[in-house]
Amino acid sequence: MYGITVEYKNGRGEYPALLQLAAGKRVLGFCDLNTHKYLLPLAEQVKAVAGSVNIHLIAEDEPIPDEAVCEDVLQAARDCELLIAAGSGTLNDINKYVSFKLGIPCATLATAPSMDGYVSGVSALMTEGKKVTLNTKSPEILLVDCDILACAPPVMVAAGIGDVVGKYNCLLDWKMAHLKNGEAYNRQAVSTMLSAVDACMGNVDKILSGSPEGARTLIDALITSGYAMVIAGNSRPASGGEHHTSHYLEMDFARRGERIPLHGLKVALGTMVCIRLYNYLLENKIEFNNCREVYDGICSLPTVEEIRGILVKLNAPCRYRDIGVSEELLREMLMNAYTVRERYTVLTLFRELGLMERVTDMLVDEFF
Ligand SMILES: [Zn+2]
Repeated sequence: MYGITVEYKNGRGEYPALLQLAAGKRVLGFCDLNTHKYLLPLAEQVKAVAGSVNIHLIAEDEPIPDEAVCEDVLQAARDCELLIAAGSGTLNDINKYVSFKLGIPCATLATAPSMDGYVSGVSALMTEGKKVTLNTKSPEILLVDCDILACAPPVMVAAGIGDVVGKYNCLLDWKMAHLKNGEAYNRQAVSTMLSAVDACMGNVDKILSGSPEGARTLIDALITSGYAMVIAGNSRPASGGEHHTSHYLEMDFARRGERIPLHGLKVALGTMVCIRLYNYLLENKIEFNNCREVYDGICSLPTVEEIRGILVKLNAPCRYRDIGVSEELLREMLMNAYTVRERYTVLTLFRELGLMERVTDMLVDEFF
């Protein structure tokens, strides 16, 4: 679908589509210290059909996709005809970037259900200490082994759930912008996204149990999120106010040269904040254009308590201080996160109506 093959490991533990793509080619597989163990058996399979297979290890636990790391992989991949990465967000971003630069196909073996960028056509990289999102390409093949995904650290699972649960908020942001301001709305993208998110959140106990079936539910929702963006032609169905809070913090962490907390963890926190904001509108009967229909949408949002309960079960951060955000930065984020993208969200609405000042202390109490 959409020019991307998502290939689940078959009963014999093989990936026929990958083997077909790799046949006769010079292949480079790359990984970091955590994903090395997953790349090696895959490389053995590929060796049976490929012209050659080399392995390049990024000798770090959590590499940052900056100029040095990208250049390192680019050099290692110079004479290759196919790139295979084993990893999640960062390794996949590097894979898409390097293969795009070299004009060759690439495949990623997903090692954690932690974010929805696997099939997207962009790479989030660090350039001169700043986070940039470059148009690159989708991987030709995304390889999924639910036994591997089920072994991912709980915090990465929490991040994946955070990225999924955030969709409820961003879909309401979109609907609100459509109803209030007449912004274009794509029902197919919305229903595609919503059915994937409902399927995932309806099976949260399975995911929390750490079973391969649970991992499958989560990765499927994350992959479908990528498709919904393809249908919409932009990230509107996957990113609203909850993501803007995350991007705002990310830029601050990057400016200070500090390690950036996992995307989905920040999105989970931002989702709880935005849901509180929506509930404030409902409870205080704040009026705006077509607000009744938005109120209906607010009633179908998950509650902050539900989301917090999931994070607690995974021992994941539930407050901003847990991810290294100061109270001052949180206050700044609440006032300014709406500026990071030109996209109307509940954050923009609160600023427009002059309501953010009124709720800041309440949000800081609950979430700092
Ligand atoms: Zn996201």
